Amino acid sequence: MEKLSDMHEKCRQCGFGYARIDTEGWPGNSARRVMCPVCGWTRLEEHGWPDGKPRLLKRSDSHGFGAYRLVPPGGYSGYNAFHCVPDAAVIHHIRELLECKGWKGYLTLWDEAAGRARLVAGSPLQKFESASNA
Ligand SMILES: [Zn+2]
Repeated sequence: MEKLSDMHEKCRQCGFGYARIDTEGWPGNSARRVMCPVCGWTRLEEHGWPDGKPRLLKRSDSHGFGAYRLVPPGGYSGYNAFHCVPDAAVIHHIRELLECKGWKGYLTLWDEAAGRARLVAGSPLQKFESASNA
């Protein structure tokens, strides 16, 4: 069983302690994605072992401009990040789903001046929730 510390790491942008880690692997190569559910900061890493030793091949960090999660009634959904300033129409659509259509989840936007993410709509779900409690 993986330890919690293997599943999360600290966000390099806002400092949130539980940026989420996803990994995928295939023979000779693996990829790791760390995404902060608060500000949207994302790090992508590719690892390989061409000569038998694990080696970091590529790493890229993306600035977060916000994050959101949209859970339809009775359904399930993961976390998403904005890597550029989202259009007003996108924000409006997400707010409508959260505030008028009964979807669960939240929307944050990065406040550059304040240096932190602001909760714009909805409410964050539990940090370590089970798959669905709808
Ligand atoms: Zn963050």
